[in-house]
Amino acid sequence: MDRIFDYKVHDTVIRLVCGDITRDHGVEAIVNAANTTLLGGGGVDGAIHRRAGPGLLQECRTLNGCPTGMAKITGAYSLPCRYVIHTPGPVWRGGGSGESGLLASCYRSCLDLARENGIRTVAFSSISTGAYGYPPDQASKVAVSTVAEYLGNYPGSFDLVMWVLYSDGILQIYRNTADSLI
Ligand code: ADP
Repeated sequence: MDRIFDYKVHDTVIRLVCGDITRDHGVEAIVNAANTTLLGGGGVDGAIHRRAGPGLLQECRTLNGCPTGMAKITGAYSLPCRYVIHTPGPVWRGGGSGESGLLASCYRSCLDLARENGIRTVAFSSISTGAYGYPPDQASKVAVSTVAEYLGNYPGSFDLVMWVLYSDGILQIYRNTADSLI
């Protein structure tokens, strides 16, 4: 049984769990830490495309990529949810190249797209903290503070926003951040 850590911001549950985002987490949309081509890659991107099946790549080919910090939405094909929201996070270059602003923009763009599509339950992966090298502690602060601020700006828009974190170590980092910021 997964360990689940719930927080509350206005009417929205913010949930942290350790696991694989391609499994069923009871959400309408999952967020893929994509690259700007949107044509698949390693890490969570590879896992999402593998489980979704070839239809996802076919649809992604029609999107003509996506700039860093923005987001695009597709169907979910064989994944156990309705939509995939794809967002290319920033590559960590030491912190002085606008990384935090771009990462915050990823989270806001995904939540904007979710609202536009009537999606009330979303699961994020930990954008940029794998191959893109963003230090997880700093990424978690941007992630949690941006989402909490967004939920304050759009109260009542979401029932559940969660992160599915791939290891206990990164779950613990997000928990520490949520404990101090929420
Ligand atoms: P990025 O290129 O944005 O850094 P990665 O996929 O390399 O994206 O890593 C982002 C995060 O996703 C990392 O914390 C990594 O451990 C995690 N991750 C990898 N596979 C999965 C998965 N199946 N479910 C959830 N998280 C995953």
